[in-house]
Amino acid sequence: MKLLTKAVKGTVDLLPEEASKFRFVEALISDIANTFGYREIMLPVFEHTELFARSVGETSDVVTKEMYTFNDKSDRSLTLRPEGTAGVMRAFLEHGLFNQILPEKYFYNITCYRYERPQTGRLREFHQFGVECLGAEDVSADAEIISLANSIFDYFDIEDIELRINSIGCSDCRPNYKKALVEYFEKHIDSLCDDCKTRLDKNPLRILDCKNHECEKLVKDAPKITDYLCEKCKTDLSSLERYLQNMEIDYIIDSSIVRGLDYYNGVVFEFVSGEIGAKSTVLGGGRYDSLSCAIGDKQIPALGFAMGMERFLLLLKENKFEIPKEDECDLFIAYIGEEPKAFAIKLANDFRGQGISTQIDLNARALKGQMKLAYKIEAKNLLVIGEDEIKQGKATIKNIQTKEEREVAFHNILSEAMDIL
Ligand code: ATP
Ligand code: MG
Repeated sequence: MKLLTKAVKGTVDLLPEEASKFRFVEALISDIANTFGYREIMLPVFEHTELFARSVGETSDVVTKEMYTFNDKSDRSLTLRPEGTAGVMRAFLEHGLFNQILPEKYFYNITCYRYERPQTGRLREFHQFGVECLGAEDVSADAEIISLANSIFDYFDIEDIELRINSIGCSDCRPNYKKALVEYFEKHIDSLCDDCKTRLDKNPLRILDCKNHECEKLVKDAPKITDYLCEKCKTDLSSLERYLQNMEIDYIIDSSIVRGLDYYNGVVFEFVSGEIGAKSTVLGGGRYDSLSCAIGDKQIPALGFAMGMERFLLLLKENKFEIPKEDECDLFIAYIGEEPKAFAIKLANDFRGQGISTQIDLNARALKGQMKLAYKIEAKNLLVIGEDEIKQGKATIKNIQTKEEREVAFHNILSEAMDIL
C-alpha cells in the first residue's frame, strides 16, 4: 500500500464508532476516579528528554530502547511521553503544588509513545488512564489507590482479573536484597540473556521482569524480596493486606513483580488477566517516594497507577460488556425544491440551536437519495418539506421506527417538536 495512505506502524485509527466507545468508557472511568477525589490534569505530550531519563531510569527498557526522542529546531532534546507519572510530578513541582494541605490527587487520559514491537495490546502510540496521589505517606493511601483500581474492574464486571501485590523494599532493605540477587545470578551468568548480563551490573532487580524464557526459569529460584524486607516495609505490606481483606478485595502476593520503571519503592501492584493473549498486565502501579528527589529538591511521598486503555477495551470485549451506541441523528429534514431547501437549511440550524441533532442532505440529491441517507445514518425522525408544506405553513414529523406521525405548524415548530423529538 502507498505510504501516504497507510498509518505509521504501531499506530491505530479509531473510527467514529470505536472513538465513541472509547470516550464512553473513558468518561465512566474518570467518574469513578472522581468519586475517590481525583481531578483531571492535562499536560504536554512532550517533555525534556532528561526528565524521563532521570525518572523512568537510565537503565530501564523504556529509556534505553523505547523512547521517541528528537531534537527540535533549537536543538533541544525532547521526548514524546512514554508514560504519565514523570510529567505529573514535574508539573506538581513546577507549580509549587506541594505548598498546601496534601495529598493532591490527579487523573489523566493520555496518549503515550514507546518504540516497541507491535502486537495485540502493544502499540507504539497507546492510551493510558492513570492516577497519581502526591503527598500521601500512610499505607492507607496504597489501599485506597488499589481499591480505586479494583472498583474499575468491578464496575465493568470484569472476570478473570487478578490483583498481584508485592513490596520492592526501600533504601534500607533493598541493597541487601540486590546483593543476594547479584550473588545468585552471578552463579548462573552464562544462562542470562545479553540484556540481563548488563542488568546484573546496572539494575539486577530488572532481571526479575525479563520476558526471556531462560531468564524466567532462573528467576523462579532466585532469592525473594519478601525474605529481605526491613521491619517498616514488612509492616506496611501486612497493613495493606489487612486493609484489602477488610474491603474484601482479593489479591495474591507475587514476589516477581518489580515494575518496569525505576522510580518505584515499597508497595507495587499489577492487575493481570489471561484473557488478552498471554498473561498480561492491564494495570500497574505502586509507590514512588523518591521520584520527586530525582527531578527536584523536595521529598514528596507519592503513588499512582496506569492502565493501558487498549488492553482494557480488549478485556471489555472478552467480557461482553455492552457499550451503548451513540444516538447520531434525532431528525432528518428532507426537501423537494429550491425554496424548501433554503427553508430546510434554516430550520435545521434552529433545531440544532435547541440541542436536537439534525441532518440534511449535502449533495443536492433527489428525495429518494435523501431518504437513503436518512436510513443510513439511522435518523430517528423524518420531516419532509415541499412547496405544499411551505404554502400551508405546516408539515409532518414521522418517527421512522414506530411510524407515528405528528403534524406541526411552522410558526411554533420548535416548541411543538420538542415534545416528540
Ligand atoms: P509491559 O510489561 O506489558 O511492557 P510495562 O510494565 O512496560 O508493561 P507500564 O509502564 O507499567 O507497562 O504501563 C502501564 C500499562 O500501560 C501497562 O500495564 C499496559 O496496560 C499499558 N502499556 C504499556 N506499554 C504499552 C504498549 N506499548 N501498548 C499498549 N499498552 C501499553
Ligand atoms: Mg513495557
